[in-house]
Amino acid sequence: SELGPEQHGLIISHFGRTVDVEAAEGEHEGTIIRCHMRTNLGQLVTGDRVIWRQGKDTGVVVAKLERKSELLRPNPYGEMKPVAANIDFIVITVAVEPTPHANLIDRYLVAAELSGIEPVILLNKTDLLNAENREKIEAMLQRYRDIDYEVLLASTSAEEGLAELKAKLDQRISVFVGQSGVGKSSLINALLPGIDLKVGDLSVQTKKGRHTTTTARLFHFPDGGDLIDSPGIREFGLWHIELDDVISGFRELKPLAGLCKFRDCNHEKEPGCALKSAVENGTISEQRWKSYKYILSSIEEQNS
Ligand code: GDP
Ligand code: ZN
Repeated sequence: SELGPEQHGLIISHFGRTVDVEAAEGEHEGTIIRCHMRTNLGQLVTGDRVIWRQGKDTGVVVAKLERKSELLRPNPYGEMKPVAANIDFIVITVAVEPTPHANLIDRYLVAAELSGIEPVILLNKTDLLNAENREKIEAMLQRYRDIDYEVLLASTSAEEGLAELKAKLDQRISVFVGQSGVGKSSLINALLPGIDLKVGDLSVQTKKGRHTTTTARLFHFPDGGDLIDSPGIREFGLWHIELDDVISGFRELKPLAGLCKFRDCNHEKEPGCALKSAVENGTISEQRWKSYKYILSSIEEQNS
């Protein structure tokens, strides 16, 4: 018919029934084509690799390739729906100020573990480290290194640690998550010159004035690697988690859970609980155990 040959592409943004596809090969390579999609493809999301064909004015996505990973989020009906695909790396961003909370870091780590995506903890604003806050923050970061999480240090203001971060972002698709004010926009602006995300929110300029993007967008870092970003994605990790899954999100608790005396151990007051004894003998950090309990109770509260 009037359609061009089948070609590979990458979805960089989606708008209801159309998507922006970046051509990954051929004469259009690197250009962006607005595409409709065949109705039998299921939901396409930012980060999806697809097969598309050039039509008269727009293109048509004819196939979706298998996903390596997906970020799932419950819709208003409680159904888990993908919001981005093929993410390889989650940068859990914290800062010297606002004071990092272990509970929150652990919540992001649970989400990373459950989605099978490699996390890194990035401490930003190291220029604000001083005699009063240094010891506490270093002790907190050490607890994560002890369970084999990688920790990176950066200061966007002092332009420190950015080269090391860039090297980690190369060759993969990353997301930055973390509470407001830690410097995610500042970091992304430093890594993606020319994008100019408004510091403090994620807005783009349109003819109608400032408009907050709600859909996830994919950007290319000039030194290699891609970023998927949206206000919603920055909160990935605070989305719904099932109670029974929480323990699998704690990498040092998971292997012990099968060793309790009772198969259905709740890890509370039961005798022979492998987790409780690991906390008592110091194999498991008290702080992580507290986080585990805290996350369980916050989910129970949400559910009730
Ligand atoms: P976001 O909410 O995580 O996107 O954080 P922003 O990028 O909007 O930054 C919040 C505030 O922290 C802004 O006032 C930034 O100027 C400031 N900030 C960002 N990075 C640094 C840093 O490395 N050091 C210091 N001292 N301030 C920073
Ligand atoms: Zn137990």
